[in-house]
Amino acid sequence: NDEKRLIIVAYRIPFKVTFKESGERVLQQNSGGLVSAILSLAEKGDVFGKNQKIHWFGYSTPDILQEGETQVENENFIVHPVLIEDALNDAYYEGFCNSTIWPISHYYPYLTSFNEEDYEAYVKANKIFADQINAFIRPGDMVWIQDYQLMLLPGMLRSENPDASIGYFHHIPFATFEIFRLLPKQWQTELLKGMIGADLVGFHTNDYSQYFLRSVQRVLGYDTTARDISIPNRIVRVDTFPISIDYNKFQELYNDPGVIEKRKEFLKDLSAEKNIFSVDRLDYSKGLIHRLNGFEYFLDQYPQWHTRVVLTMIVVPSRETILKYAEMKHELEEAVGRINGKYGTLGWRPVIYLYRSLSFEELGALYTLADVALITPIRDGMNLVAKEFVATRTDKKGVLILSEMAGASLELNGAILINPTDKRTLAAAIIQALTMDEQEQTQRMQMMQDRIRVYDIFKWTEDYMDQLDIIKLKQMEFE
Ligand code: UDP
Repeated sequence: NDEKRLIIVAYRIPFKVTFKESGERVLQQNSGGLVSAILSLAEKGDVFGKNQKIHWFGYSTPDILQEGETQVENENFIVHPVLIEDALNDAYYEGFCNSTIWPISHYYPYLTSFNEEDYEAYVKANKIFADQINAFIRPGDMVWIQDYQLMLLPGMLRSENPDASIGYFHHIPFATFEIFRLLPKQWQTELLKGMIGADLVGFHTNDYSQYFLRSVQRVLGYDTTARDISIPNRIVRVDTFPISIDYNKFQELYNDPGVIEKRKEFLKDLSAEKNIFSVDRLDYSKGLIHRLNGFEYFLDQYPQWHTRVVLTMIVVPSRETILKYAEMKHELEEAVGRINGKYGTLGWRPVIYLYRSLSFEELGALYTLADVALITPIRDGMNLVAKEFVATRTDKKGVLILSEMAGASLELNGAILINPTDKRTLAAAIIQALTMDEQEQTQRMQMMQDRIRVYDIFKWTEDYMDQLDIIKLKQMEFE
């Protein structure tokens, strides 16, 4: 059987694995956008064998495997766990991925650790992925590698499989050369060489693509055009694919019985005239403190809004074992306490802060009852929350205030765009949003929904796969 197979590689596997009391293993397939979009490729069967199971390589601890197993499957996926021992994984994932690549790519050089051992762990972990996949791959397979945990992997696969079809997608920003060059030269060279092992390197925005091309030019010395890199014997395409969401799934939330019930329940507690809402993972790139500063300034400048507006701020726990994240959580809680202490009354808390994750129904209820979504990252590759908020608003009401530093700001032209470091603009945007008439809300919502409906996650995946096919054909002409 030499059917063409689709192989996805990502740090995370598409299953949540739990065990019943009896010891029985339960595989719960993730319901995220990327997983469902990849499944739809399989259903259509136009990029590889129809109704084939999709192979997925991702990190796991050994407990997922039962006696004698090397893979775990359900009706859709064959998951190949890549086992990385704890100490190595800490240095790889918390270390190089989240304490070096993440901060440097989000323009936080002063939070970036430049630790040689962490880099070595990153190389080793990528190599563990590579060895396992190289042993599995056969001619004709299509490999799609996801994200910054695996920047070296395309190169490591290419060296063993010169003709393979390999895609890489970078889900975070790619910083300008002046920032990227702060990494030691050896890391710069190896990371870039790793990425261009792919045939197609994808980014969310044209800026990220251009910054990447510029670094390739400067560091590796290859000629580049607007979207191609000429390396010896091969052309690599660099292109822009703004990731999106399952639009219809979010559209349906508004009238989902579970969501309706939650919304009723929440509205009892959120009795203020206007609700401002935000949800983010705990991260310094999300502008959480800037948001609070802006809201505080708004309360200070517009006392007539006291008791009439509430900011519900949900922060989803993330990376708590990294010191900076733990520190930031304290800082955040202090700011919430300060604002509530200063402006609150016995009957009114201006900020409701929750540090936990939400169920899908809760998320749907909070999106659909918000008068304003206040999304203020200092840097964000895309920001799916902004797109999700817009997609849920079947009622065409609600206003989006969005940072111009989020990738999503390039598509969501109906949002009030702000720079979150400027508390005056932020306060002005809040007033504009709170007083916007319904007709304008509807107009703006409609514009944004039109965009996301057309360019949803399914289109994103299809576009990427089509482009990968196109560049493979172009390479053949070139040879
Ligand atoms: N989200 C979640 N759990 C929650 C609340 C939200 O998984 O409790 C989801 C949210 O629906 C969105 C994602 O987390 O799909 C956040 O994506 P985004 O691009 O906004 O930011 P990231 O966390 O990837 O930096």
